[in-house]
Amino acid sequence: MKALYDLTPFTLLDFPDIPAAIFWFAGCNLRCSYCYNPDIVLGTAHIDEETALAFLTKRIGLLEGVVLSGGEATLYPNLLPFCRSIKALGYKLKLDTNAMRPDVIQILLNESLLDYVALDYKAPASEMSRICGGGNEHRFWESFHMLQMHAVNFEVRTTFHRDLLNESQIISMSNTLVQEGYTRPFYVQLFRDSVQTLGNLPSSKHIVNYRLLEHYVTLRT
Ligand code: SF4
Repeated sequence: MKALYDLTPFTLLDFPDIPAAIFWFAGCNLRCSYCYNPDIVLGTAHIDEETALAFLTKRIGLLEGVVLSGGEATLYPNLLPFCRSIKALGYKLKLDTNAMRPDVIQILLNESLLDYVALDYKAPASEMSRICGGGNEHRFWESFHMLQMHAVNFEVRTTFHRDLLNESQIISMSNTLVQEGYTRPFYVQLFRDSVQTLGNLPSSKHIVNYRLLEHYVTLRT
């Protein structure tokens, strides 16, 4: 079955503390205007599972993890057996997800297939539709509370484009996470200018007030 749009054979940046490959799943159920991966979101898969698993078999002992990214990996209909096959080769799995499929996350957690989850907290509820072209903040919280209850390592993160959100909204999101019992770092990735985006965003002319944010979030540049 065609599973992946693309495959990054090696990264030291995307899976905490271990060398990993990145599997890029085609398609997404959101349309974030700042999305860096329009080709993947709008594209179709052309790497099949067998090819991806053969790649991993050859890298046993060299890589330790696989990042399931995209696009949105939880949309892939054969994800559960695919994850089982990857784990059977001895790899750790990290899921990067927009949190809109808590049902799928639950199934993966129930089978202890995930070793790390990066959960996108896109925006306050009132802004989701404008920024992400849809989505539902309730699903984010459902996914979040599920992860809080499991013994899985996870992080919450957001992309901050200064034309789409302001510092007060980021601080409000941080405070809401704390109110919901979140004690880990809230990672904020600053939008990288001069890249193609799904919404064809121009470069932001606004300056980010780092000092205002530093007590609330962990910045990733
Ligand atoms: S940034 Fe948004 S549109 Fe792009 S892959 Fe992530 S959830 Fe999908």
